[in-house]
Amino acid sequence: MLCEYDHDHVVDKWDHIWKLQVAERIKYFMWLVQHNRLLTNSTKAKMNLGHAMCNFCRNMEETILHALRDCALVKQMWLSIIPFKARSSFFGGDLEQWVQYNLRRNIKGLNGIRWEDFWATTCHCLWIWRNRELHEENYNRPMQPVLYIMQRLREYYQASKVSGTVVSVPKRVSWIRWQPPEEGWVKVNSDGASKGEQMAGCGGLIRDHRGHWLGGFAKFVGVGSAFVAELWGVLEGLKYAKRKGYRKIDLNIDSVAVMKVIKSGKTNSSLGTSLVKSIKKLLDEDWEVKISHSYREANRSADALTSMGCTLNYNIVYFETCSINIRELIHADVLGISTPRLISL
Ligand SMILES: [Zn+2]
Repeated sequence: MLCEYDHDHVVDKWDHIWKLQVAERIKYFMWLVQHNRLLTNSTKAKMNLGHAMCNFCRNMEETILHALRDCALVKQMWLSIIPFKARSSFFGGDLEQWVQYNLRRNIKGLNGIRWEDFWATTCHCLWIWRNRELHEENYNRPMQPVLYIMQRLREYYQASKVSGTVVSVPKRVSWIRWQPPEEGWVKVNSDGASKGEQMAGCGGLIRDHRGHWLGGFAKFVGVGSAFVAELWGVLEGLKYAKRKGYRKIDLNIDSVAVMKVIKSGKTNSSLGTSLVKSIKKLLDEDWEVKISHSYREANRSADALTSMGCTLNYNIVYFETCSINIRELIHADVLGISTPRLISL
């Protein structure tokens, strides 16, 4: 009985998030918030990745509630819109209570915007702004955050009315995380991307069954589509693993299109054809390579190396030890931290 109750409870909680009229990425974000899975300083400190304190207040721990509700950076904004009589409830509860309180529309909407949509979008913006301020030297958050958020929501409501995107397509939530290879095998994750003209790149990494780093690379491809860059990622990843002497490879690719092309050996892309041929040739050599699809959420480390590759001003760089820029991602993979993904039924 207990199990059934829990299941209903979980479905019910998800239901409120799913019914929000906000972009999907904001719904994912709310999932992370609800499950206490944002990488705040407090969480990072538990993984030995730095201090737990708020970078702005200094003397308070940066928990999710602190970052989104209580931090001096954001409290004033909430105070400017939360009606006086709702303040003790709004600022009083723990994270779970706060989420439920706001999702259940306990506060009146603002000029045709539903409270829960406004609240979720605001939380998402506050988190993004917070991180940008920390990492981007010249970043300034909007001067009038409430107006900015309301404007964005109005545009979203308008666009969904036109395109009819706000429909309840049955979906289920799946938690995606990096899967280590079997013992004795190594996992190669690779990725490729194109960031504007002449800015394609790829990257990848090799790890063992414990998630330990065995090698990584980032490569500048230059002119090319994301598809071509992904093929480069696979080719360089395989070549690198081979050169390092591994003979049992579990190759993960996050693009279904690339996987199909490699398995069939056929592509319409002229640039892609020679790459696919090279990959095929390599696969036919004397070693074992299992190819499987992984969701993007499980491929974040390769994605980060790819971003590096897109901006390199030389051909390829190898990382014998884990590059400091992606240490946190690698750590999250080892810990088995997962990300929600909506999968259509
Ligand atoms: Zn703070």
